[in-house]
Amino acid sequence: MRAATLAVPNGMSMTDQANMAVESCDVVVIGGGPAGSTAATLLARRGYRVIALEKARHPRFHIGESLLPMNLPVFERLGVLDKVRQLGVFKPGADFEAENERGYNTYAFARALGNSPPHAYQVWRQDFDKMLYDHARESGADAREGHEVRQIEQAGPRESWLDVVTDEGGAYRIQARYVVDASGREAFVSSKNKLRRKNDEHQSAAIFGHFRGAEPRAGEDAGNISIYSFAHGWMWMIPLPDGVMSVGAVCRPDYLKQRKGRAVEFLLETLQMSPALWRRVQHAELIGNEVRVTGNYSYDSTRMGGPGWVLVGDAFAFLDPVFSSGVYLAMSGAEQAVAVVDQSLRDPDREPALQRKLEKRQRAGMARFSFFIYRFNGPVMQDMFRDPRNIFQLEQGVISMLAGDLFDTPKVLLRLRLFKLIYAVFALIDWRRSRAEHRYRLAQARGEFTGGTTPLDKA
Ligand SMILES: Cc1cc2nc3c(=O)[nH]c(=O)nc-3n(C[C@H](O)[C@H](O)[C@H](O)COP(=O)(O)OP(=O)(O)OC[C@H]3O[C@@H](n4cnc5c(N)ncnc54)[C@H](O)[C@@H]3O)c2cc1C
Repeated sequence: MRAATLAVPNGMSMTDQANMAVESCDVVVIGGGPAGSTAATLLARRGYRVIALEKARHPRFHIGESLLPMNLPVFERLGVLDKVRQLGVFKPGADFEAENERGYNTYAFARALGNSPPHAYQVWRQDFDKMLYDHARESGADAREGHEVRQIEQAGPRESWLDVVTDEGGAYRIQARYVVDASGREAFVSSKNKLRRKNDEHQSAAIFGHFRGAEPRAGEDAGNISIYSFAHGWMWMIPLPDGVMSVGAVCRPDYLKQRKGRAVEFLLETLQMSPALWRRVQHAELIGNEVRVTGNYSYDSTRMGGPGWVLVGDAFAFLDPVFSSGVYLAMSGAEQAVAVVDQSLRDPDREPALQRKLEKRQRAGMARFSFFIYRFNGPVMQDMFRDPRNIFQLEQGVISMLAGDLFDTPKVLLRLRLFKLIYAVFALIDWRRSRAEHRYRLAQARGEFTGGTTPLDKA
């Protein structure tokens, strides 16, 4: 982190700033989402004095409701698995639209190759995030809400200064030996230090709402996340507690820019573009007539850390959420980062090597997800998802990827490599459509398309 010039928060005079209260601690965690709460809990448990700062107050709305099986071991280590169970809807798998009798294929987590748990959960994020933040506090972290970090300056590898303002008009400074940035898509440290870079391969935006009375899947598939692809992107249906269904579309930005008029109508028109999804939603009620839109995303940071600081969760990188990977990557990444912070504080000489290893591992896992994400709407991947074959246990390898088991299990990694090889062969055979899709995606990311027909329609 480069030293930055301190700005005076909230228009205070320099005298006020000089008189500001100063606190000190071992580690400051910026952001009280899943990544921040995980880091704060585990660092406090290791005996560090941790100040966690969340600018909002829990419970606060957040999107990102579908969790992965590989999140469960992290919950267990944190000691919150029972609480998640109480909050969540049982999620046995993910299903994708298909041209078979029932209209979809289920990828049941119980069929995964490795030892990933056979299910996950789907949660209201405001309840889940509050529970995790409360847990960090119960574990010994000084977890504050309504406290926003406004400025950060690094005087030395073990001396960072943060300016904090509170939503009650207060202001103070903290001196910390280490900074964990878990500020989500605000990417506080990364943005301030110009480390954030847009992903040229993949840009998208989302529009979504919550419905009551949407049709769940039948029988044992009732808790599945359902994924549908359509001409401008993909759509989700996520069953939440109390019969609510989260429904949304992730679209190429040019499509969302066409929006004229009210967001509610635009959402409903968009959902109708997938007849199979619409059949399940058409008679449901959009709760509070409330529709939310998020802007473009998909980015990473050129570095994950440096002397005395580390980025975790969305503060480091964000992937398109088609495989519900965000919360898992945030929490497991935070858990790994905690080990690095701990060892670096004990033995500073090891910090560079430990951080390099951490970043390599996180990027490798993200790249495995990204391979599928970038190609998800392409013709070849669509065919493979619609008509999966379990030759060489490839389908089971894909299920393991969907479960989030893509870091450490050799037999899964082998299947994912094999899958890539077979994909390349199919893409070669169907090269015209694959090339058209690839060019379109790059043009989208550069913002060259303003609307109209997609190359898939032309192909
Ligand atoms: C449309 C969409 C759908 C998604 N669906 C899924 C899904 O189904 N499953 C899934 O796993 N993921 C999903 N995600 C991704 C998921 O939302 C994120 O990956 C996840 O929330 C990351 O957690 P985090 O802790 O890194 O950040 P966040 O959860 O964003 O938490 C960051 C926190 O930092 C606080 N903060 C920011 N700046 C400051 C500051 N300066 N000072 C103090 N506090 C600050 C914020 O208020 C926030 O509470 C989805 C994302 C989108 C956009």
